[in-house]
Amino acid sequence: MTLDIKRIPCLRDNYVWLAREPASGAVAVIDPAEAAPVKAKLAALGWRLTHIINTHHHADHTGGNLELKAWSGCTIVGPRADRARIPGIEIEVGDGDIYMFGEEPARVYDVPGHTRGHIAYWFEKSAALFCGDTLFALGCGRLFEGTTQQMWTSLSKLRRLPDETRVYCAHEYTQANARFALTVDRDNADLRARARQIDEMRARDEPTVPSLLGEERATNPFLRADDPALARAIGLAGADPAAVFAAVRSAKDKF
Ligand code: ZN
Ligand code: FE
Repeated sequence: MTLDIKRIPCLRDNYVWLAREPASGAVAVIDPAEAAPVKAKLAALGWRLTHIINTHHHADHTGGNLELKAWSGCTIVGPRADRARIPGIEIEVGDGDIYMFGEEPARVYDVPGHTRGHIAYWFEKSAALFCGDTLFALGCGRLFEGTTQQMWTSLSKLRRLPDETRVYCAHEYTQANARFALTVDRDNADLRARARQIDEMRARDEPTVPSLLGEERATNPFLRADDPALARAIGLAGADPAAVFAAVRSAKDKF
């Protein structure tokens, strides 16, 4: 039995995720931006909250922590490296740890770049990756606290996960990301097809998250900084992947 995962749109473009582990009945909310929509969704499902799982400290990921904890008595799990900035944290995890959520293990990865303490959780059995603001569908998070080298290293770790991994990122940024991706990787046929599909989905008001890691590897320019075709396309043939990554990230910042 694998995780039962539900989406809760919050704030302007955040996705908060609920995950229920069926063997134990444990229910986690991942990165609760705010409490009210989480409570409403739990009530509609008849689920009882047992855990909050945080990827990083930003308010649009932890804003509901204390209210939900006071309301449910749930346990808060988050990055050890950023313990001081995670409201209510009780269980601290970091790179290489296996965190048992109910009866399903999650492998934890340190993925600094967006923030210095950012982590991601990979539930292998459920083929689910909760990666916060590190890897987005067709994009990656802005570098608020880390270097481009750190972010490239972080994304390189996530890129190694299996193709069928579903990428549960925390924002619906995909359509804008696709527009940008096409400016740096316009000869990529997979990307062009995906961009068309995303336009159709958004026209129908459908979410584009989760995506599959296999399609990210083929189409997300931030996972392709070591692809010679991308380096050539942006005039950096032969450059170091970290330099290509930095150029793509900086172009996106100005896009
Ligand atoms: Zn963030
Ligand atoms: Fe965010």
